[in-house]
Amino acid sequence: MATSDYDVLVIGAGAAGMMCAIVAGARGRRVLVLDHANKPGKKILMSGGGRCNFTHTGTTPANYLSANPHFCKSALARYTPWDFIAMVDRHRIAWHEKTPGQLFCDDSAKQIVAMLLAECARSGVRVETSVPVSNVRAHGDGFMVDTPQGHVRCASLVVATGGLSVPTMGATAFGYDLARQFGHDVLPLRAGLVPLTLSGKHQEHYADLSGVALPASASCGSASFGEAVLFTHRGVSGPAILQISSYWEPGRELLLDLMPGIDPAQWLIDQQHERGAAELRTVLGDGLPKRLAQRLCELFFGSRPMRQYRDAELRDIGERLAAWPIVASGTEGYRTAEVTLGGVDTDGISSTTMMSRRVPGLYFIGEVLDVTGHLGGYNFQWAWASGHAAGQVA
Ligand SMILES: Cc1cc2nc3c(=O)[nH]c(=O)nc-3n(C[C@H](O)[C@H](O)[C@H](O)COP(=O)(O)OP(=O)(O)OC[C@H]3O[C@@H](n4cnc5c(N)ncnc54)[C@H](O)[C@@H]3O)c2cc1C
Repeated sequence: MATSDYDVLVIGAGAAGMMCAIVAGARGRRVLVLDHANKPGKKILMSGGGRCNFTHTGTTPANYLSANPHFCKSALARYTPWDFIAMVDRHRIAWHEKTPGQLFCDDSAKQIVAMLLAECARSGVRVETSVPVSNVRAHGDGFMVDTPQGHVRCASLVVATGGLSVPTMGATAFGYDLARQFGHDVLPLRAGLVPLTLSGKHQEHYADLSGVALPASASCGSASFGEAVLFTHRGVSGPAILQISSYWEPGRELLLDLMPGIDPAQWLIDQQHERGAAELRTVLGDGLPKRLAQRLCELFFGSRPMRQYRDAELRDIGERLAAWPIVASGTEGYRTAEVTLGGVDTDGISSTTMMSRRVPGLYFIGEVLDVTGHLGGYNFQWAWASGHAAGQVA
């Protein structure tokens, strides 16, 4: 079988892999990118509802979860959202800011993939899809990689195989297995940015609220996110839940402030003075979605005219609305998760180059590493920044 020679072989034609290839190719390195999927950038294509939330202008290291919160700092500082925006602008891709800081394509995520492929071509990078990698081994000063089409010899091997979420899009555990093969630790993996499921009486309580959404703040320990919460057939979702899911683990308390920005107890007491004859259910229906207000009254508060409630009762109801417990039983898992928490332990990786401290010439970039961003464009920014860092030296 034929053997081809490259300076750099990148496994994974996703966000991080293509960025790394572009930067390495621009340095004059001979670069090959291999992906087992039938087209490059599949996750980019499905991201941001098809419009790709390609970065967040407010990116800071605090937007990432990692066993080593310092690890992401160097790469993020050296390739900022504005560097990526400059590339997007060079390609005349129209974009807009949705929620503050979150940038999306006006038209389609396809434009981001086309841009990356055009940049790969300009840097002389070869991108091949539908090529599974079966085996990798150290070979002289570099590596030998086996594929059904032949062997590839390379000086630098970049692992950019992403996380486990959405297996139907080509996600595999290959990168984690490869890391272990070369002596790296892989920190426990779990689904992040994912809807939470409820079971038993907790599911029954909210089952017929499916489709109801409200602005709320979700908190778990010291983490807190104020955005929309959505009730679903299986549990709870919406941006606030997706964000907090990355901090939640079975058994941990998850609380919702159902009336963020106000003191619900004081609000109820004020309402009592203004509308003593109105029933609690009606009053709560003005501060919460009506179906939710009705359900909470049916299940927990009852509903009498406001003037019949004592101050202490209203205070108690208000306090409960500000810290409403959601007893989640699990997550919807990798099928719907946007990211994988955990991954290749950054202790074994240089934070400036993304190169293995154990095996010279071996690099890990993007989501396969134990660096996971919040919702809002941060995960792509990490993919671009870590890919850029490795591309400068690989
Ligand atoms: C539905 C959805 C929406 C998202 N929306 C956003 C968003 O709007 N903004 C944001 O910042 N983040 C978003 N994300 C997260 C973001 O897509 C990822 O964090 C990012 O793509 C990670 O980049 P990566 O290059 O590390 O991995 P990926 O982009 O996942 O690329 C990995 C590549 O490796 C390939 N591969 C895997 N195993 C092998 C193998 N054995 N051999 C060869 N190739 C292999 C895969 O086919 C894939 O092409 C979203 C994720 C999902 C699932």
